[in-house]
Amino acid sequence: MSVSFSLSPEQVGLKRAAREFAEANLRDLAETVRTEPDPVRRAALARPAFEKAVAAGFLKGLIPVPFGGAAGGGVDAAILIEEWAAHSPDFVISMAGPLIALVPVYEVGTPGQIARFVAPFLADAGAPLAAMAYSEPGGSANFDAPPPAEGTRTTAVPDGDHYVINGHKAWASHLPGWDGDGPDLMTIVCRAPGGVSLVVAEREHLAGHLEVEEYHDLPALRGCLTATVRLVDVRVPRANLLGREGQGVELCRNAFVGSGASIGTFAVAAMRRAFEVALRFATTEKRGGAVPIVEHQSVADVLADAKGRIEAVRLLSWRALDAALGGDPHGPEWALHAKVFGSETAVDVITELVKVVGVSAYDTAFPLLRYLNEALAYPVIEGSNTGVRRRQLQALLRTPGYDPLAASGMA
Ligand SMILES: Cc1cc2nc3c(=O)[nH]c(=O)nc-3n(C[C@H](O)[C@H](O)[C@H](O)COP(=O)(O)OP(=O)(O)OC[C@H]3O[C@@H](n4cnc5c(N)ncnc54)[C@H](O)[C@@H]3O)c2cc1C
Repeated sequence: MSVSFSLSPEQVGLKRAAREFAEANLRDLAETVRTEPDPVRRAALARPAFEKAVAAGFLKGLIPVPFGGAAGGGVDAAILIEEWAAHSPDFVISMAGPLIALVPVYEVGTPGQIARFVAPFLADAGAPLAAMAYSEPGGSANFDAPPPAEGTRTTAVPDGDHYVINGHKAWASHLPGWDGDGPDLMTIVCRAPGGVSLVVAEREHLAGHLEVEEYHDLPALRGCLTATVRLVDVRVPRANLLGREGQGVELCRNAFVGSGASIGTFAVAAMRRAFEVALRFATTEKRGGAVPIVEHQSVADVLADAKGRIEAVRLLSWRALDAALGGDPHGPEWALHAKVFGSETAVDVITELVKVVGVSAYDTAFPLLRYLNEALAYPVIEGSNTGVRRRQLQALLRTPGYDPLAASGMA
């Protein structure tokens, strides 16, 4: 990342292309998705835009270059995510499944596994889906807890050359796939004889062995097809085990580093839209007084504080994504701060902006509460701050020899 913090000409081009794509394909989609009551129908509404994004090379742009893709650096990812999430964070989350599900493949996949599992996402047509099946309906913050705690309950039982997988998974976007037969690839966190492990199931293994028990109806991010599914005797070749049995906890934590960092950028996108709305209101509305309300010091103070906090989270998230996707050893620490600080700042900032607008904001037709509802998701998704992320920060602080200056390079 350039220490001048100026976007390169290529990044300016990326920003323009991403914004044009979002304005042409995501703005109206977001409106339609918001009002469609059926979770399956509203997820399907995104498919044409998804196919256009794949055809335009955006999906390939999520896959690192050494694995055949065209991903740029972390700041490039931040630019793309911010521009798209400003219109439709749910679209980005649905499309970005490979950003989590393929990370362990890159980390420990054999050449054969890499070739097979990455191939669907290098396509320039269709709408391939990947899901990281970590969360379970009974809770997943303690997925690594050893017996007698339940920890991960989904089991992978060896049967000759196969594992037979049974259990329940929840929340991950597009667990049922477009048609109920599963995504193209599902990285399943499960308990094998050697401990918590990651096993990749492909559509051919999932079709007919996946039952949707419940679709979740989200207050925001409504285009994410989130469901509770039951995996019933999913037979997967043992060759689809990633790394070794028992390596799942470590691989799973690493898989959520980049996506955790990206939550800071999702938070920026929600704050940016909310700020635009509140600023327009404050500079145009007098509310019966003599001057636009921005002329009142109390209102201007809130707007000024909000703007500063948005810029702070944007820079933190650029730094975090740059570190997380660039293989910086301090990437996990940066990602955790972007996730925790970014998500909680967004909830605070947008709540303050609602107060600036006043009662007019408390109408779903007024375009402000929708961003608060989006922001409220960010402390609880990608590992809730309370149950998962702060515990990871605590573990870092307790590491013998932890140097608080190391991540910034100022040690
Ligand atoms: C739109 C969307 C997309 C998602 N995408 C995915 C995905 O791709 N893949 C996936 O697997 N999941 C996904 N999720 C789920 C998400 O990652 C959750 O963050 C994850 O399930 C963990 O939630 P949790 O920490 O609340 O867990 P839970 O286990 O339900 O814990 C609930 C609460 O209990 C408390 N708690 C539990 N244990 C502890 C502890 N040891 N210490 C302190 N407090 C504790 C905390 O307050 C915690 O928040 C998604 C969810 C949504 C809404």
